[in-house]
Amino acid sequence: MTEEEFMLSMKKVIEFITDNYRNPEKFPVSPETRPNDIFNQLPQKAPENPEKFDLVWNDFHEIIMRGCIQWQHPRFHAFFPCGRSYPDILAETLISSLGTVGITWAANPAITELDASMVNWLGRALGIPETFLFRGLDTCQSEGGGWLADTASDAIFCAIMAARHCKVEEELSKMSELEEDENMTASNRHTSKKHDRRAEIISKLVAYGSFEHHSSFEKACKMACVCCHPVEVYEDDDWGMRREVVEEAMEEDVKRGLIPFYLHIALGTTSTASSDHLAELTPMKEKYGVWIHVDAAYAGSAWVVEKYRNNAGIEHADSININLHKFFLTSASVTPFWTRHQKKYKDFFRVDPAYLKKKNGGNDLRNWGVQLTRRFKALKVYMLLRVYGINGMRAYVERMIGMTEYMESLLIKLPNIRKFGQTNYGLFCVQYHEEGMSEEQVNATTSHLCEFINNSHKMFFTHSNVRGHDIIRVAVTLERSTKKDVEKSVDLFSQLVDEFKKKKAD
Ligand code: PLP
Repeated sequence: MTEEEFMLSMKKVIEFITDNYRNPEKFPVSPETRPNDIFNQLPQKAPENPEKFDLVWNDFHEIIMRGCIQWQHPRFHAFFPCGRSYPDILAETLISSLGTVGITWAANPAITELDASMVNWLGRALGIPETFLFRGLDTCQSEGGGWLADTASDAIFCAIMAARHCKVEEELSKMSELEEDENMTASNRHTSKKHDRRAEIISKLVAYGSFEHHSSFEKACKMACVCCHPVEVYEDDDWGMRREVVEEAMEEDVKRGLIPFYLHIALGTTSTASSDHLAELTPMKEKYGVWIHVDAAYAGSAWVVEKYRNNAGIEHADSININLHKFFLTSASVTPFWTRHQKKYKDFFRVDPAYLKKKNGGNDLRNWGVQLTRRFKALKVYMLLRVYGINGMRAYVERMIGMTEYMESLLIKLPNIRKFGQTNYGLFCVQYHEEGMSEEQVNATTSHLCEFINNSHKMFFTHSNVRGHDIIRVAVTLERSTKKDVEKSVDLFSQLVDEFKKKKAD
């Protein structure tokens, strides 16, 4: 592609982007695509010879766009908002054009240092305590710090691995003190070689979370080869995890010879955006020596507005993650991660081959997790925060939460629709009910209604299940949604419920 061809093609792309912004209802919210439709329309292999962009552009419209769910459609009320903004799009374009990666500080100082600055900028904008932030870029300058991970799943996995490392080291040093005290025999020493002991300790480690936590917690436990002990949560607590239940679980496990090492706390769960009772859970840290990780993937973005910071006790956490690609106008995927134990954390991830070990690598991003290659994600955050300003982000969050609350006020007035749980950070849930219906019938009908609505391809919602209760989650997701858009959604929802009732009665 020549520069001239690129400029002409880019113009088309820009027109397409701006047109989508202006006409968000141009494409149906969800396509009538069936499994394999797109796969079968595509050739079995890539073209041998170069093709003109016009041809590619045509197929992008005819095949690919026709298979896309429109997350930026005013009738899309599923999942969470999926961040998008003009500064983010500009940054993405620049990132691709620079063709550079931040494997070490020496490989690209700007990627590394902007990453750290954004960890601090975001931390201060969202009210993360200063003990989690960088005071300088040499590890010895501050125990606080962090990085821009890709996803919450990555961040949670890294937190669990760091916590596992700390607990194993702690247990190993307890064991060697014991050995010295007991003056172990040579044969005992032989059987308790260090790696055998590590394996033995790991086999006893238990991580705690609730049944309402995101699946990434359970997956991370699987990958870390540690036990995952989910605890019960109750409607009266708005499905938030409470201290007694966690303490009871830990106590039981300790009696069985197991070792608690990690406590997962969600501020904003996936199904209902409920919060665990952080302040009463943090004493578990001292009592059982657990690493506390706060997963605020969705709700954390709302902390930009002070009144939404229901995170008392956050200063006692060991690490925190927030997804910017949900509620912070940033496209996938950027997940700031903060910890108060930078040194211990990085000790676990550090491996120093000669080709990477260079001077000035005080904050090499490679020591913050699994990946070596890093995208220039910090540029997205930098451009967003400068173009919107913190006040712009506050206004966005307040407006979106306001729109969702408006939608809730209208939707719950509809016949046969009842609210489930509380409204948290711009997310509420509903169920379908009729007088005399059993809870089983409410569940089945709610789930069928959600499927019926989604199959209309006019609106899109997510169905979920909270401890046996089927629900439809409702969020207003499009940044530019207006009250009119919300009213249109509610009218359409009401029509679809009527159609559903007719179909059900037939
Ligand atoms: N944690 C919570 C509370 C979530 O809601 C989600 C996704 O919805 C995740 C973690 C996983 O996020 P990611 O897709 O960034 O891994």
